[in-house]
Amino acid sequence: MPAASSVLAATIPAPNEPVRVVEFARPALEPGAALLHVLFSEVCGTDVHLHHGKLSGVPYPLIPGHVSVGQISELRGPLADVEGTRFREGDVVTFLDVHETCGACYHCLVTKQTTRCPHRKVYGITYGTKDGLLGGWSQALYVRPGVKLIHLPKGLDPEAFIGGGCGLVTSLHAIDLAEIRLGQSVAVLGAGPVGQSAIALSALSGASEVIAVGDPASRLEFARRMGATTTFGLDMPAADRTDAVRRLTGGYGVDVVIEASGSPDAVSQALDLVRDGGRYVIAGHYTDAGPSTINAHQQINRKHLEIRGCWGSEARHFLRALSILERHPSIPFRKIGARRYALHELNAALADAEAMRIPKALVDPWQ
Ligand SMILES: [Zn+2]
Ligand SMILES: [Zn+2]
Repeated sequence: MPAASSVLAATIPAPNEPVRVVEFARPALEPGAALLHVLFSEVCGTDVHLHHGKLSGVPYPLIPGHVSVGQISELRGPLADVEGTRFREGDVVTFLDVHETCGACYHCLVTKQTTRCPHRKVYGITYGTKDGLLGGWSQALYVRPGVKLIHLPKGLDPEAFIGGGCGLVTSLHAIDLAEIRLGQSVAVLGAGPVGQSAIALSALSGASEVIAVGDPASRLEFARRMGATTTFGLDMPAADRTDAVRRLTGGYGVDVVIEASGSPDAVSQALDLVRDGGRYVIAGHYTDAGPSTINAHQQINRKHLEIRGCWGSEARHFLRALSILERHPSIPFRKIGARRYALHELNAALADAEAMRIPKALVDPWQ
C-alpha cells in the first residue's frame, strides 16, 4: 500500500459550521498501535446531532465517524484479536469505537455496564483533531493501543458490514434486551438504520409479526425487504395506528415494542402499542431530544409494563453482528448504506441524512 506522507480527512470545525476537508500529516505509530487505510465510514444519526452541537463535551474541531471498516496499512504489534489470531498488514478489520473503559470503576466492575464507564472514549465523538486521526471520515485512522480490533470474516464484504454499521450493533443490543420469543409480535418505531436492523433482527429472532412505524414511504418499503410484515406511515394519526396494531394482535397490542426513532412523541406512542405486561426497549434517544409526555398510570403502571433503556454497544455486539452478517447474506443490510459520499460531499450527506432522503450515507474517503 502506498505510504503517502499526508492524509485527507473531513472535519466539523465547530457546531453548525460546514464540514471541511483538511490535510493531516501521516502519524508515526507508538507501540501497540496500528494505522488503518479507511475503506468506509458512515454518517450516523449521532453525526447529525454532533454537527448541530447537541452532544456535550465534544472537543471541536473533530473528525467524525465512529463505526468504520479499513485495511491495516501499518502495524506496531504484535496485536491479536479476541481469539488470539494475529493481525497483519493488509487485514480487513473493524474495531470497537468505544475504548479506554477502565475495567475498575463501579459501572465496569460491579454493574457490568461498560457503556456507562466515565473514562470511556469514543472515536469520532469524544476526540478532537488535536488528539490525532481518531475518526473514520478520513483516509487513514489511527488505532490507539488497547483499541479492540476485530477481523472481518473472510468473504464478508466491507460494504455489507458498514451498511449495517452502527445501527446494526446498536439494534443487536436492543434486541438482546427485548428478549423476543418465537412467534411473538414486535413493533419497531423509526425506520432509520437502527430501526431497519431491529426489524431484521426481530424477524431473525422468530417474531411472527414485525410492524414498522416510520417515514418516509421509501424507508417503509425498504423495511419490508428487511422483514417487516406490516408498515404504518406517520401520515396516519397515532390513535389510528394504535387501533390498527391492536387489530393485528387480537386486540392486545404487541408483545415487544422497540423505539428507534429518536422522537419524544414516539416514546409515548410506543407505550400505547405494547400489550399489558409487554416489554419496551428505548434505543432511539442516544442524544437528548427533550422530554416526552406520558401518563404513568394509564401507559405503564396499569399495564404492568417492563421498560428498558439501551445506550450504545459493546464488543460482544460487534462480534455477533459480524457473524449475523456472514450467515445471513440474503438480508439486505448492505443496501441500508444507500449512497457513497466523498469527503468533500459530506455536507450534502449530513443534509440527506437529516432529511431522511436515504436510509444511510456511506463515507468513501477515496472517491
Ligand atoms: Zn470504568
Ligand atoms: Zn452511530
